Amino acid sequence: SIEVKGINKRFGDFVALDNVDVSIPTGRLTALLGPSGGGKSTLLRIIAGLETTDSGSIAIGGVEATRLPAQKRNVGFVFQHYAAFKHMSVAKNVAFGLEIRKRPKDEIRARVDEMLDLVHLRQFAHRLPSQLSGGQRQRMALARALAIEPNVLLLDEPFGALDAKVRKELRDWLRRLHDEVHVTTVFVTHDQEEALEVADEIVVINEGRVEQIGSPDELYDTPANDFVMSFLGPTT
Ligand code: ATP
Ligand code: MG
Repeated sequence: SIEVKGINKRFGDFVALDNVDVSIPTGRLTALLGPSGGGKSTLLRIIAGLETTDSGSIAIGGVEATRLPAQKRNVGFVFQHYAAFKHMSVAKNVAFGLEIRKRPKDEIRARVDEMLDLVHLRQFAHRLPSQLSGGQRQRMALARALAIEPNVLLLDEPFGALDAKVRKELRDWLRRLHDEVHVTTVFVTHDQEEALEVADEIVVINEGRVEQIGSPDELYDTPANDFVMSFLGPTT
């Protein structure tokens, strides 16, 4: 699980997160949904340990993590524009996190094969990232994030840069992948349809505040306020 309690974050005078409480249960696929500038990435980066908080606490898997550096939190992270090592093969990119953790060679080889099978990229193991399509590259990024067996997987608009068709394919595929590996996953999106289709649970965040937390059905049927209602409502 991820327990976020009373998080406040300012950038100068600007309040980016205002007393945010979120509880993300183990094994769930949770979407952080909200309009641009609402604080989604900031919250995700704070959970990952890539950004500090002004106050509040974070626990990951029951372990107090507020002051732990990112490397000690055992999180997998995928961004919209994935930064691959351009000179390394797909397999080497996936192996990277295991190599810096000095895992045994045969263990690394087996784990990389397993991850490449999982994302259906085994036949591309020896290509360079530049020789993959955008969607394949994001699947490689997911394989790399999962290779280290993270406690939580954090995805910040992982398919945001892709065209609508590939985006939809990857969204369905992420759902199936999650059903297979069950890793606690937080998925940032500003796309209502994406959140409603993919997530077990949705956290609606706007202007640094949590507006509502619930299942897609709960949010759709009983929105907590006008903001949630208009944000989830049909787009015209
Ligand atoms: P988007 O959907 O556009 O990615 P978001 O919900 O992820 O938006 P954040 O990136 O978390 O939004 O930003 C929240 C607010 O905090 C924005 O107004 C942004 O300008 C501000 N902000 C984020 N990072 C910084 C920073 N390093 N310095 C100053 N302001 C920042
Ligand atoms: Mg963002």
